[in-house]
Amino acid sequence: MRRVVVVILDGLRRDFVDAVRTPHLFEFAARAARFPAYRTAFPSATRVVAATFATGCHPARHTLQGNSMALLENGVLVPHDAGAPGFLQHKRSINGYALAVPTLAERLASHGGAIIYNNVSPGAAYAHDPDGHGHVYHRAGSFARGRVAAEPLNVALDAAGDRAMTERFVADALGVRQPALAVLWLGEPDHIQHNVPLGSPEHLAVLREADRNAALVIDAVDRRRQSGDDVLLVIGSDNGHETVSGVVDVEAALIAAGLKAGVESNDIVAMSSGTSTLIYLHHDAEHRRDSLGDFLASQSWAGTVIDGAGLAAIGQAPHNGLAFAVSLAADASANEHGVPGRSLAAKPRWDKQDRIGCGQHGGLGQFEQSPVLLIDGPGFDAGSVRGEPVHVTDLAPTIMRHLGVAAPGMDGRAL
Ligand SMILES: [Zn+2]
Repeated sequence: MRRVVVVILDGLRRDFVDAVRTPHLFEFAARAARFPAYRTAFPSATRVVAATFATGCHPARHTLQGNSMALLENGVLVPHDAGAPGFLQHKRSINGYALAVPTLAERLASHGGAIIYNNVSPGAAYAHDPDGHGHVYHRAGSFARGRVAAEPLNVALDAAGDRAMTERFVADALGVRQPALAVLWLGEPDHIQHNVPLGSPEHLAVLREADRNAALVIDAVDRRRQSGDDVLLVIGSDNGHETVSGVVDVEAALIAAGLKAGVESNDIVAMSSGTSTLIYLHHDAEHRRDSLGDFLASQSWAGTVIDGAGLAAIGQAPHNGLAFAVSLAADASANEHGVPGRSLAAKPRWDKQDRIGCGQHGGLGQFEQSPVLLIDGPGFDAGSVRGEPVHVTDLAPTIMRHLGVAAPGMDGRAL
């Protein structure tokens, strides 16, 4: 049987894959194809990347625009945390769909099915299959086909929880049920990287645990191959991390500049995805578009400002009044542990932590846009280096190609 197994080590930068810090992944890389020009979605944030991975389409088409984003509800811009368990179901009630294009789970529903085990935010987990075509296991609630409740996944968001989830994934998805597509999305090293400095002993200890979890799956896939399965094994990450060098309150800056009416106003809404922000403009405030653009262009914290036609080039579209995307200023300087890459971050809403001195991502910075991608299986030569530009939208068509199922309408191309 043809199968695809995907392991995502959330937040892993590809420059952290080496013989010392991730020995199992380093060994695996020797038998896989490597993709040193692999880039991820914008914002480079897990909920967005999960929907992009699941659909093979950019946010412009699947419409999950940011880790936090605005929806236009009865003519009002309403801010939302896309990580909340009910976000995509709410989005369906507003837009008429959760995601505007089909997921891998939907496309594979009658071709062997999909099982997703996920230990990141509920919103990111459910972005794999918001309409209930396959099986999604998450600590906030598991769902089987038809979105009926499935066996709970009671694990913590840490290395031990990832370990328990990995063991169950291997026994259940790879051992017993054997779907066409099995996805294991680990919460580490992303979770620890948000809480300690990159390269610190605490970070490296958890990274070794994540590496061991990946090894459990590599061994299980080898056993499946010995029993005759033709398995494509994809091991990667959704984004890298940069060290947060400072935090910018973008909405406060817009209010101080006279561009936004007040803290609770819905004329202009800035939604943080870590080191980037999406700025939504209500049509009643359309006359402020040019001055808003001029203001952003004049701000040193606004590293890259994207608007109008530029949105399409980064895979976004003006849905819900999205007017500007900003990737905050970043540089390649090193932190106290010698890890390069620093970026400003956009202050999040809802009193979330601002992560100064720790890791963050979301923008177009060099290191957050340098996730890992290793593919082992037919068509991918052991030890080869594929230097062409590759994007996370290319994974879904690659998966479908291996499974021999047509996949029209995706933005990416099979690798
Ligand atoms: Zn993260």
